[in-house]
Amino acid sequence: MALTVCRTIAELRTALAPLRRDGVAMVPTMGALHDGHLSLVRAARARTVVVSIFVNPTQFAPHEDFDAYPRNLDGDIAKLETVGTPIIFAPAAREMYPEGFATTVTVGGPGTGLETDFRPHFFAGVATVVAKLLLAALPDRAIFGEKDYQQLLVVRRLAQDLGLPTEIVGAPIAREADGLALSSRNAYLSAGERAIAGNLNKVLRDVAARAREAEDGGLRDCEAMGVAELKAVGFDSVDYVAIRDAQNLAVSRDLARPARVLAAASIGRTRLIDNREV
Ligand code: AMP
Repeated sequence: MALTVCRTIAELRTALAPLRRDGVAMVPTMGALHDGHLSLVRAARARTVVVSIFVNPTQFAPHEDFDAYPRNLDGDIAKLETVGTPIIFAPAAREMYPEGFATTVTVGGPGTGLETDFRPHFFAGVATVVAKLLLAALPDRAIFGEKDYQQLLVVRRLAQDLGLPTEIVGAPIAREADGLALSSRNAYLSAGERAIAGNLNKVLRDVAARAREAEDGGLRDCEAMGVAELKAVGFDSVDYVAIRDAQNLAVSRDLARPARVLAAASIGRTRLIDNREV
């Protein structure tokens, strides 16, 4: 089947109408696609997949990289053709945020703390655009990467709270050979920075291993050691290394419930995030 690029919500709904019977899955992205994104498309299996490509201005603060964010629609289309995606939704900003737009969706619970402490605008932008994308396509299923673990929980909460008819599915993190999580922002890294970046996942693995050995109450020390290790291997700043409840991101006191270690750290001007099971 030929790939259709829809530019408006009306075009998208028309394109999806005859395909709904067999199920529709959506994969929201900001483009500059890599194998991590394509793994989400594969995880949708069997259903008609719509991939949205939209660099969402409301999730960037004025000092962040909205203008520099990599954009390559033709390259993205070529990649999506290789995995048989039938529909791309690539709206202009005016389509998503028409003149006079005045609505913001905010999610508490998993949307508080961690990323919010450093990017206070971020999840309101994400939740608003994801709500719009899901309402535009009304998919049975939407697939989000565990790479952005807090975002996955925020979107799950949003879908439940608003009663959206979409099952939110998390998909595993796709990584480079040295463990660096694939990310469109990895393109910003110089060769030297790229070598440092490969340590983020290794440090998280060490933190998780130590946490499993730690006595009660030792988890905060494990986090602090993780921060120190990241600085020692060359990260310029560390926003957080945090061991949290895998379901709701509450601070873990022990490992009685499944936990996840999450981190955000910068090399030069590039901020990287990663996480893994403890
Ligand atoms: P982005 O284009 O960075 O906004 O990401 C779009 C979707 O792809 C989100 O659900 C991300 O979590 C997911 N994603 C990004 N990188 C990866 C990765 N390395 N592995 C799995 N999913 C990813």
